[in-house]
Amino acid sequence: MTRKGKQKRISYPSLLVGTMVIIGFAAFILGSGVGKVCAVTVNGKTIAYAQSKGQAQEALAKLAARKTKELAQDVMVDGKVEFKTVRESENAYDDKKLASVLDNELSFVTEGVVVNINGTPQFRFKNKDVTDRFIKQLRNKYSTGENCKISFAEKVETLNQKVNIEKLNTVEEAMRLAEQGRGQPEIHIIEENDTLWDLAVANNTTVDRLKSLNPGVDENLRPGDEIKVSGSTPLLTVIASYETIEQEKIPFGTQYRSDASLPMGTRKIIQQGTEGLKKVTYKVIAKNGKITEKTVLDENIIEKSVPRIIKQGTKLSYSSRGGRLAWPVSGSITSRFGPRWGGKHRGIDIAAGYGVPIRAAAPGRVVSANWQGGYGRMVVISHGNGIVTRYAHMSAFGVQKGQTVSKGQIIGKVGTSGNTTGPHVHLEMLKNGAQTNPLNYL
Ligand SMILES: [Zn+2]
Repeated sequence: MTRKGKQKRISYPSLLVGTMVIIGFAAFILGSGVGKVCAVTVNGKTIAYAQSKGQAQEALAKLAARKTKELAQDVMVDGKVEFKTVRESENAYDDKKLASVLDNELSFVTEGVVVNINGTPQFRFKNKDVTDRFIKQLRNKYSTGENCKISFAEKVETLNQKVNIEKLNTVEEAMRLAEQGRGQPEIHIIEENDTLWDLAVANNTTVDRLKSLNPGVDENLRPGDEIKVSGSTPLLTVIASYETIEQEKIPFGTQYRSDASLPMGTRKIIQQGTEGLKKVTYKVIAKNGKITEKTVLDENIIEKSVPRIIKQGTKLSYSSRGGRLAWPVSGSITSRFGPRWGGKHRGIDIAAGYGVPIRAAAPGRVVSANWQGGYGRMVVISHGNGIVTRYAHMSAFGVQKGQTVSKGQIIGKVGTSGNTTGPHVHLEMLKNGAQTNPLNYL
């Protein structure tokens, strides 16, 4: 803020002296020192009739003294006051009426401060102290600490000017105006699926206007939040710029490790994960208390996160000698592996009722579960070490591709999908890609 020159002090006595000079001049012009009535004029307009100059001067002096005392600061009449002795037979006022008329008709100004916002006078203060108190209070309200820089989005100017004492703002009034503007805002509570565009249309306004009414608002409206859809804009936008350090958790990841000593399809957590901790330095910009920007300046890891480690078994729980494949269903074999009808039967057929559950012959991972031409609905399971089993003609799937299954787990239901003459399970077994007789392992 700047002050133009030294504050001009017009004290009550100087007011009187000035007034008396004017009176003398007026009397000279009229060419008559004596009259029955004294007209009191402001800028040439008569506002009262006194019994004498003395009475008028005293009434004005009393009024000015009272205003000065009330404001605790020098005041002066707004306009040029003259006392003219006139001959017309007007009824002169008594002391009480004269005081009352002068009080009503005269306005007083003081050497105050006008604050312009973007060139428009918005605040009028009694003096520099009050102006400074207002600016300080506004800055303090939005300051987050010593390293916080405060600025205004608008151009703020302070000018030393004569201000009508009736129009002076208190700091409290100015704070309210600065933050709320003039006029009453209309509030809308955000509902699901509200957008700024819809709200602008519904309230006969624009998205830009909504953004200026609600500093910091963006398209991510959250149901339940309040938004101003009309009304006044704050007169001032206080921009706070500061750095802040926050401690944040670092999430942990999961690592998978194959383990040939664990049975296929089993998992074992060998290390529980733990979250880490980091110090993040942010640069924050807030407008009238609402954060509008937050960017990472620096990150310091205090404690690294520790990953969770899971072992996944790859060991087959059967062997061609000791261990055995489990029967997918119990039933009689209606067609064996090998030559058939001049061709080759690639697996064995096990008769079972429609809808009977089919179980995995060994633990493994589902390679596919889909329709495969003449096989119909077929589940293919890889058991590791080059061993694969296939289950065809299902009426329904019980598993999905990628899923891990344990031995005996239901993987589907017996059906007649694909080329069949009746409900059965066609079971195939492949060893390193070559068809093998499953009965050697069952
Ligand atoms: Zn078959």
